Amino acid sequence: MQTRDPNSARRKPERTCVGCGQRDDAPGMLRLVVADAEIAFDLAGGAFGRGAHLHPRPACVEGAARGLARAFGHSVDTAPTSLGQRLVEACERRVAGLLLAAHRLRALEVGADAAVQAMGRGAPLVVVAADAGAIARSSAVARCVADGRAIAWSSKDALGALLGEASVAICAVRHPGIAAELKKMREAADAGLAAATDTSKAKGAGCRSPEAR
Ligand SMILES: [Zn+2]
Repeated sequence: MQTRDPNSARRKPERTCVGCGQRDDAPGMLRLVVADAEIAFDLAGGAFGRGAHLHPRPACVEGAARGLARAFGHSVDTAPTSLGQRLVEACERRVAGLLLAAHRLRALEVGADAAVQAMGRGAPLVVVAADAGAIARSSAVARCVADGRAIAWSSKDALGALLGEASVAICAVRHPGIAAELKKMREAADAGLAAATDTSKAKGAGCRSPEAR
């Protein structure tokens, strides 16, 4: 169903991934900046500082140390575990901001009934709390999972606190741009989690780079 504007496709800027060294469309990648010798993920865009780009893939996050050291020097912490942890935290902030933005735009249907209705009408994404329970196993949600229109995120209590309700198990996003960005953040958080919890590489010495294999 996606339509692609050939003009906008031509205008897409390309960037080189510091993880795998391949060039790709910048909008599909994550931007990092270095400020005060600290690497930060600039997921909302617009942060000042020297930047680099990274695919939201586990292999690219885990392999970014050498590229980041080359780009920014060895004084910055480029260990995959801390990079992964920073990415997960940045994704959490970004997802919260995106959900609030959708809420403000009245493009968020909160709660099972409203969300299932919106999904039936073709909402591009449903966000399901990791502890959502029965609703997560419903056929309506299963269809969205099969279509790639569902992400698991956070918990009922945390989503509720964010959206000003006691508890939110599920919500549907009707804004295509916000939905696409949320899917990208889920992918990025998974990549960050994989890097952050990769104890086999982090074991022993923090200074050992994965390229030393
Ligand atoms: Zn890459």
